[in-house]
This record gives sequence, C-alpha cells and structure tokens, in this order.
Amino acid sequence: MLHGLMMQMPLAISSLIRHADRHHGDAEIVSRRVEGDIHRYNYRDLHRRARQMANALKGLDVKLSDRIATLAWNGYRHMELYFAVSGSGAVLHTINPRLHAEQIAWIANHAEDSYLFFDLTFLPIIEAIAGHCRTIKGYVAMVDRAKMPAQSKVPNLICYEDLIDSHSDRYDWPEFDENLASSMCYTSGTTGSPKGVLYSHRSTILHTYAAALPDALNLSARDVILPVVPMFHVNAWGLPYVAPMVGAKIVMPGPNLDGKSLYELFEAEKVTCSAGVPTVWQGLLAHVEANNLRFSTMKRTVIGGSACPPAMLRTFEEKYGVQVLHAWGMTEMSPLGTACTLKEKHMHMSPEQRYPTQYKQGRVIYGVDMRIVGDDGGDLPWDGKAFGDLLVRGPWVLRQYYKGEGGDPLVKDAEGRTWFPTGDVSTIDPDGYMQITDRSKDVIKSGGEWISSIDIENIAMSHPAVAMAACIAAKHPKWDERPLLVVVRKPNAELTREQLLAHFEGKVAKWQIPDDVAFVESIPLGATGKMLKAKLREQFKDYKLPTA
Ligand code: ADP
Repeated sequence: MLHGLMMQMPLAISSLIRHADRHHGDAEIVSRRVEGDIHRYNYRDLHRRARQMANALKGLDVKLSDRIATLAWNGYRHMELYFAVSGSGAVLHTINPRLHAEQIAWIANHAEDSYLFFDLTFLPIIEAIAGHCRTIKGYVAMVDRAKMPAQSKVPNLICYEDLIDSHSDRYDWPEFDENLASSMCYTSGTTGSPKGVLYSHRSTILHTYAAALPDALNLSARDVILPVVPMFHVNAWGLPYVAPMVGAKIVMPGPNLDGKSLYELFEAEKVTCSAGVPTVWQGLLAHVEANNLRFSTMKRTVIGGSACPPAMLRTFEEKYGVQVLHAWGMTEMSPLGTACTLKEKHMHMSPEQRYPTQYKQGRVIYGVDMRIVGDDGGDLPWDGKAFGDLLVRGPWVLRQYYKGEGGDPLVKDAEGRTWFPTGDVSTIDPDGYMQITDRSKDVIKSGGEWISSIDIENIAMSHPAVAMAACIAAKHPKWDERPLLVVVRKPNAELTREQLLAHFEGKVAKWQIPDDVAFVESIPLGATGKMLKAKLREQFKDYKLPTA
C-alpha cells in the first residue's frame, strides 16, 4: 500500500474565520440588533472579538467538548460565538427559543450545557428556566453593561461585552482531531420528541464546501447574503460558515422577520440572495404586493424546510425576477441534501416546460448519496413516478443521536452499507431530481392508495383567495382515511368550500380531491415555521366528513 504524500491538515471551523479575516477582512457583517439599531463591522473585527471571547471562555473554565448553549437571533454576537465556542474546542449548542420553556430546560439538561448565552428578548425564558437547569453555571446576556437588566432573578448573570472587554485578542486557535464535536442542534420534534444531533468539525467543513458550490447555494465574494433562516436551527443551513469561506457580505435580520422589516433591509444593504422557509416568504411577498414594491438587488432566494408552493416560486420569478432555489434537507443532514438547480438541457426550455422540474426538491449535492426503497427494502426505479422511503448517506449525515437516543437509526443495504432513513417519501426522476411527496406520517392512505398531502396543498395554495392550506387525513368508514383540507383565507377574500373544490378539477384524479374543506382563522406553526399537522389531526380527530 502506498499512502499519498500530502499534508495532513485537520479540518477545523476556526480556519474559516482565519481565512475570512486574511482574505476578506473588510467584507461587512451588518446586523439589526435587539437594541433596535443597526450594527456594522467586518470579518477582521469578527475574528478579533471571537478570539477575545475564546479567551473569555477559558476564563470561565470552559473545557474541551463542554456544551455552550445559545438562545439568540441572527446577529454578529451569535456569529462570534459560532467561531469562539467551536474554534476553541467546545460545542456550540443552539437552542430554538420558539420552543416552550419546559422543552428548552429539558434540552439544556439533556445536553448538560455549562453556560447559556442569550439575547435580551429571551430574558423571560431564562427567568422561567434558570431554576430548572441543573448544569448551567452562568447566563450571559448578549448586550453591553448599559443594557443589562437592572434587576433580575437570574443567578450568575454575566454581561457579554464585559467578557469581551476584559480579555485579550491574543489567542491561537488550537488544533485537534477533525472528528471532534463542534456544534449541536436538537431536532424540532415535529414528529416526535427532540433528539440531539452532534456535528463535527469535519462534517461541518465538508458540508460548507459542498453548500457553496454553484449547483448548491452558489455563493461567492460578490454576494450579499441575508439568512432569514435562524442560526438557532441547523446552523442557518450552514450560511454562517459558507459566508466566511467565500467572503460574502452577510446581513443579519435580528428579531424583525416581518415582511416590511425584511424588505427594508434587503434594499438598504443591497442584498443579492437570501434563504428561509415558505412561511417567511409569504409575509414578505404580501408586503411587497400590497405596497407595489420591487426588489432592486435581490437575484435569488433559497426556499426549503417545507415544500415551496409552485405559486410562490412563479410569483418570485415572473413578477419580481427573483430566482427560487428549492432545497431539501434536515437537521440530521447538517442540513443540505438536495438543491434544485437546472441542467444545461433545461436552459432551452420555455418556463412552462421547465417549471415542473423546478418545483421538485432537486438533485443531490455531491457528497450525499440517496435511494428510494419500497416496503420490502428493495430499490425503486428512478422514473419520477415510483415513490418510496428516501434513504441517504454521506459524511455530513447523522450516524447516531446524542447519547444514543432512539437506538440505531441506520438501515443496511444488501452490500452492508449503512443508510439513514429520512422519514420522507419521494420520487426520483431519470435526471436525478428528487421530489418529496410527503412525510411518511403525513401521507393520506385512502383505501390502500396514497395521496400526497403536499400535492393537494400546492393546488390549494395556487387559488388566489388562499393564504395557507394544510391537507390532513380524516377518518373514513369505508376508505379508512380521506383528505380534509384545512384552509386560512386571505384577509377580506371570499371563498366557499364548493369554489375551492372546483379548483381541483382536472388538476388531480377525482379520488384525490379532498372530501371537505374546513376554514380556520389560523394553522398552528411549529418552532421552525412548519405547519403542525399532528396538532391539526388531533384538532380534527372527530371530524365528520360529508357522506356522498
Ligand atoms: P424536524 O424534522 O424536526 O421538523 P427539520 O428541519 O430537520 O426538522 O425538518 C426536516 C424535514 O423537513 C424533512 O425531513 C422534510 O420532511 C421537511 N422538508 C425540508 N425541506 C423540504 C422541502 N423543500 N420540501 C418538503 N419538505 C421539506
């Protein structure tokens, strides 16, 4: 055996910020702060303050692999922690502040966090959980001395800017095994109790390389990126790592995620691309449409987390000239799995010819492998029609949950290779474009036939009077389950059950048309902005469908 004679350099998250400092030192990081103002500095400043914070962590006696929690919006201080914590060998544990206080305390105890950094918005949560978090030694408020809460019940409350100010910026990032844990995120628990996913330096850097590729997020030093997707959920889809790798300017929206605030920031900072879940874009589009506005610099946006309704994709492209990049992933995949970029052959097609491809979740990003299997575990054809359980593998795909929760999640193929079952049901077409038809728990099983809830929702969303739609299974004496469409109307819009059901005719087979429509004021959303269908199913469990 002959080994290659190349340098051995462990992949390390600290290398990203060192690189950005040296090669893109003056590229800006602009943040709308909880304090209400706009803060701006650059990668050089970010690196300096991350080094000061790394020294501060040492001063707090934070050791290798200690878990450091954050409850914070997208902002420069949060980004400093991304590098200070992971770069110094500790584990950055981002917690979703939209979870219930009880769940947050449960997660902090399960992860055995030693410090918790938080934005002032979340002081009430900290006050509620502090008495229940068994391992947390101190709570760091991410503000300066002047903004510190005057009186607080929180034990060992520390000021972030005091920590920075009292420490030197002389710090050498340590080298360690690239498989060392760097960060962790709990699954949002849309379909079960939260489980910890523990990323490594290696998995993060490989994911960052792949995410930056032209057929993935396609980011460069010429971009201004505004991540709406939160840094508290799956590392904002990797953007806080990709931006320093490529030297992109980054714009952080802080707590203001409404359409008006986002639009103003897009325009003021000349944002070229963004990323977020469909519900966020709904708010933005509503604002832009109501005020007859245009995007002057926005070229494209990544939409994922839930299926992007085709109507949204078309509105962005046709009305505003913004290209939508539909992407799919999950917490267990760091999160990117596929992105829907076109191939050369699509470039000669009319929009109507290429849209069906663009509506799909896309092709795998190099590094990820996928397959679809039937009930017997056998491979299904890539014909764009057969659908089955989607399995993935790759160097940034989870092998096991933190502390082994849930047992061994992987399955083996005939050759003994291990695969992670995603819990999604999908098709794959001959060009390798994957399309999620459903989460396995959301599929509607009508008399042995499967109805895709996503298909039904997409059609409902294409009706101009529909603001939001969820399709769930309702019990049926004959068919076992039948689709029930739960709908929120647009403000002041009129829409009847009959009108909406007529809208389905000719778009799907007759037996796939929902049996009924229930109009509601709102649909419950989870902590990451996804519709909570489990809650809806509970709400409508005794619903009587009309009998034909
Ligand atoms: P959780 O599973 O805890 O809700 P994740 O953010 O990890 O949180 O969600 C991953 C799941 O979200 C995927 O397995 C898939 O069901 C869904 N998902 C993500 N992106 C898309 C997309 N573009 N289209 C449809 N579903 C998506």
